[in-house]
Amino acid sequence: MSTASQNPPEASISAEHLVRRFGQFTAVNDVSFRVEKGEIFGFLGPNGSGKTTVIKMLTGLLPLSEGSAWVEGLDVRTNSEDVRLRIGYMSQNFSLYPDLTVMENLQFYGRVYGLDPARLKRRIEETIQLNGLGPYTDRLSARLSGGWKQRLALGCAMLHEPKLLFLDEPTAGIDPVARRQLWDLLFELSAHGITFFVTTHYMDEAERCSHVAYIYYGKLIADGTPNSLRELPDVQPDGTYRVEITTPEVTRALRFTRTLPGIRSATIFGQSIHALIDQHLELDDLRAQLSKNGIAVAEIRPLAPSLEDVFVELTYKHQALLEAARV
Ligand code: ADP
Ligand code: MG
Repeated sequence: MSTASQNPPEASISAEHLVRRFGQFTAVNDVSFRVEKGEIFGFLGPNGSGKTTVIKMLTGLLPLSEGSAWVEGLDVRTNSEDVRLRIGYMSQNFSLYPDLTVMENLQFYGRVYGLDPARLKRRIEETIQLNGLGPYTDRLSARLSGGWKQRLALGCAMLHEPKLLFLDEPTAGIDPVARRQLWDLLFELSAHGITFFVTTHYMDEAERCSHVAYIYYGKLIADGTPNSLRELPDVQPDGTYRVEITTPEVTRALRFTRTLPGIRSATIFGQSIHALIDQHLELDDLRAQLSKNGIAVAEIRPLAPSLEDVFVELTYKHQALLEAARV
């Protein structure tokens, strides 16, 4: 009997119950999600959580231990060669040839994809135009800044006109301006109909995605639009609200805040504390209690949950479930 099931229509990626084991260790544990065509899908999670492993499974580089996945209409278990021709993949260690120029790198990667000379010429021109590489075509890639290297790497990964691009931490190690510019480019390309699967550690980047998922040591613990995740009952339970407490004494304030009745959770974000609070504990009350204990408070204000808050809450909950399962 064939194990191939129906390809779900329209999805760019459909992953169902993905499992990947390395020996006894389960790196990806029953992960399911769907990425629609044209989305910018942000895939987040701490180091070692299985992001790269999922990408390798979806790009046909690593066999699935269990589960199934379709990418651009193809079953990755049986069609990994064709999958690789339809997608682009900029790996975490994507390497340009430092002693080749921008143009030479594009020509090299275009030949790797087997583009015939006419198509290669057309695609290089289009890619230079789209990615804004025009002023740099003759520059050695070793002499490009980090941001421009990433634009060139992205260009190399899309020469064969893939409809879906996997970018594994494309902005790691580049400066904030270059990060923003690379994201602007992703939006432009997305408007041309390309779907993106992007891993990142940066929460501000996650906020820009149309769809985000969070993987925590092999388990998918969040999946949705940024706004739908903010409204999850686990993130914003009935009868609670969230505040930001700005104080020069964050660590002391955190220790004290956590002891107060009515505080559900509290975490430090830079110079402030984000706390989830029962409705009956009022802001003025909270302020009074802090100042009674000698903690200087610059500001307390209500706050909508950020995606970082979302992931923190869901991580706590997931850890609590794991603890409960252990006893
Ligand atoms: P991430 O990309 O989220 O940082 P990875 O997918 O690279 O995480 O790794 C997930 C886990 O799987 C890690 O614990 C890593 O050590 C392990 N892992 C990845 N590849 C292999 C492999 N080929 N053999 C054994 N363990 C691996
Ligand atoms: Mg990785």
